[in-house]
Amino acid sequence: MLRRFDVHRVTSIAEAVDARQRFGEDAAIYAGGTELLLAMKMGVARWPHLIDVKAIPALGRITATNDALRIGATATHWDIERNALVGGALPALARLEANVANVRVRAAGTLAGNLAFGEPHADPPSMLIALGARVVLEGKSGTRSVAVHEFITGMYQTALAGDEIIVAIDIPLPAKDVRVAYVKFQILERPSVGVAALGTVRDGRFVGAPTVVVGAVDEVARAVPTAQFAGADARDARTLDAIAEAARAAVEPTADLAGSVEFKRHLVGVFTQRVCATLAAQAS
Ligand SMILES: Cc1cc2nc3c(=O)[nH]c(=O)nc-3n(C[C@H](O)[C@H](O)[C@H](O)COP(=O)(O)OP(=O)(O)OC[C@H]3O[C@@H](n4cnc5c(N)ncnc54)[C@H](O)[C@@H]3O)c2cc1C
Repeated sequence: MLRRFDVHRVTSIAEAVDARQRFGEDAAIYAGGTELLLAMKMGVARWPHLIDVKAIPALGRITATNDALRIGATATHWDIERNALVGGALPALARLEANVANVRVRAAGTLAGNLAFGEPHADPPSMLIALGARVVLEGKSGTRSVAVHEFITGMYQTALAGDEIIVAIDIPLPAKDVRVAYVKFQILERPSVGVAALGTVRDGRFVGAPTVVVGAVDEVARAVPTAQFAGADARDARTLDAIAEAARAAVEPTADLAGSVEFKRHLVGVFTQRVCATLAAQAS
């Protein structure tokens, strides 16, 4: 059973920041509630006050410029997967979002809530880190923007300060010839491993080094050191094996219901090969 709590429905970012400051540790931001209410029902978290940000109009918007997407903090996974700007500019993100959780969670849960919760078994962080996305935060001392890889600092840990809220996620758009891919393996409700990759393949070779980020096996998503693969033959099995080996070495898997450390390291290798092969296939 949920214990009693008060919901404070704010209609502006300034009101949300004021409420964060007023209630301090006694309050949490309430977006879709898919994680928050579950944690409260299970009794692992208790907040006497919830600050409901869904009625702040500016937070629901998804906008695009020539070189970036801005996803407002109350945009749900469902909003993002169906948004024409996202589908046109970054179809890989739309596909990723369409495969998060189930339709009920996607219809209520937000991308910002996914990042703010810091649950390691998550899909978006690896792709957002590969793209160089940033979390835009608003607090008493103004606005700041933090790279996603610096925002999620550990298991259920983020760089969000006590008076701050996420207002948006800024995602730079890759150049036209850069391919973006994401593959995952999932046996439970959430991914056991997810690997995002980004790169250009021309005449079968990587132009520069590909970017590979592994998520869901570790406390945080990890970028794989790939500098040595600049110019490598992207279709050669030996290249894919070597990138997979680099990925296995880069992660520190946590054993849990999704598998043992050894099993997860194995999955990381398999899915890293697969995502790199997908990049090469997309380029041709
Ligand atoms: C059954 C189930 C299956 C799932 N499967 C997947 C999956 O396959 N892949 C995956 O990636 N994820 C999965 N998820 C996680 C899902 O993506 C998140 O639950 C959802 O995105 C959280 O968003 P929300 O708006 O509901 O957040 P809430 O539950 O409202 O909030 C979550 C946390 O974020 C904070 N928060 C929310 N918005 C803000 C803000 N604007 N500023 C500051 N803090 C904020 C809250 O205070 C709270 O601490 C699953 C969840 C469930 C329940």
